[in-house]
Amino acid sequence: MDSFGPAKYKPYNRSSIQRTPHWERMPRDLREAVDVVSHVLPFRTNQYVLDELIDWDHIPDDPIFRLNFPHESMLAPDDYATLRDVLRSGDKKQLAKQIHAVRSSMNPHPAGQLTHNVPELDGEVVPGIQHKYAETVLFFPSAGQTCHAYCTFCFRWPQFVGEEDLHFAARDASGLAAYLKRHPEVTDVLITGGDPMIMRTANLERYLEPLLSPDLAHIQNIRIGTKAVGYWPQRFVSDVDADDLLRLFERVVGAGKHLALMGHYNHPAELRPAIAQEALRRITATGAVVRMQSPVLRHINDDPSAWHELWTQGVKLGAIPYYMFVERDTGARAYFELPLVEAYDIFRTAYGSVSGLSRTVRGPSMSAFPGKVLIDGVPTIRGEKVFALQFLQAREGGLVRRPFYAKFDPQATWFDQLVPAFGEPRFFFEDETATADPSVLSQPLDLVGV
Ligand SMILES: *Cc1c(COP(=O)(O)O)cnc(C)c1O
Ligand code: SF4
Repeated sequence: MDSFGPAKYKPYNRSSIQRTPHWERMPRDLREAVDVVSHVLPFRTNQYVLDELIDWDHIPDDPIFRLNFPHESMLAPDDYATLRDVLRSGDKKQLAKQIHAVRSSMNPHPAGQLTHNVPELDGEVVPGIQHKYAETVLFFPSAGQTCHAYCTFCFRWPQFVGEEDLHFAARDASGLAAYLKRHPEVTDVLITGGDPMIMRTANLERYLEPLLSPDLAHIQNIRIGTKAVGYWPQRFVSDVDADDLLRLFERVVGAGKHLALMGHYNHPAELRPAIAQEALRRITATGAVVRMQSPVLRHINDDPSAWHELWTQGVKLGAIPYYMFVERDTGARAYFELPLVEAYDIFRTAYGSVSGLSRTVRGPSMSAFPGKVLIDGVPTIRGEKVFALQFLQAREGGLVRRPFYAKFDPQATWFDQLVPAFGEPRFFFEDETATADPSVLSQPLDLVGV
């Protein structure tokens, strides 16, 4: 077995990356683009990603490079040119104005994040939780609202650049526990962020411990969304409190809970390093389960062979394929999005190439306002080519898994662009969710990486 000594955790931002040898390896135009774009979209990476995951002989096409480093085409050409010129001019006031203008044009708050799905207890908003689907409550600990590296497609980007008020995050689990006591229908708590695994073990423990209390016996499943399995596996192997973390996982499992790490893996390169495999071995040895999820992204994983490797290697190492998402409608969306029909073809081709043990995965799925919508096929019915759709999750539980159909549209990239098939005036669920604001079809938390 490999042995892994302690590694120093070293993050990089826009300034410090410019003092690394890696920076020197980047052509001038790429460096300029990183500098310009990272004034608008957040940039953060770490030493492990730089040294172990990026293949510097293949930049800029290397998928992990593209996932970590901003690119010129993530901004509209005019916005890029204006921003670059203002930067060169050194006019700080104009720069701040320009940054804000570009951010505002990138749909920073898809679907009113702070207004939907936020539950109340005795007339008071409970901080740090969201409750959309009956059985699962999301929990946002305030200490876990940042990440080990910022994925360039991340829908949480306004939070990382400080444009979003973080007051919704919770400083402790007392509000969560009180809410859960009143909600016996809830079986799952999903701790999310950012990345909760950015927290030290002692901090995480403070949030987890209350969930093990006997009066929360109805909470069967505790999930933790994390990118650390891919971008900082040292968290589970060689960090000073890595062993404490594994003991904590054992305690949660020993208390009779199912503990699932919802691992955000975008590309099989994240599974190749020995330490990433060791992290999986150590996590699964505690009795916790790792599940894998990711959006399908142009330039990154828009190739069935990437998913084939991810799912088959994952299964071999003990991780269970869970969701393939459709890229959300925010941020550098134009750079990453794919027509739904392409996302479906990638899914089907990859799914068809793996054994049943990898076919636990579902997708491609869009987190839209009424629920998670699965693209289930592109059949021709009564002479009309359509998208066959289903809800995998719905605000209204009764909608789940009822097939419905949208007109085929080869260009459509998101649910709000679809219209009902067969000339029908509305989708079957639209009567039932008539109170929802129809202008807000997307739903805030897609949980791709979290
Ligand atoms: C995806 C999601 C969940 C979890 O759904 P599962 O299908 O149980 O994984 C819970 N809440 C929200 C808001 C979600 O988007
Ligand atoms: S996608 Fe997830 S892991 Fe990546 S930066 Fe966003 S919250 Fe963090």
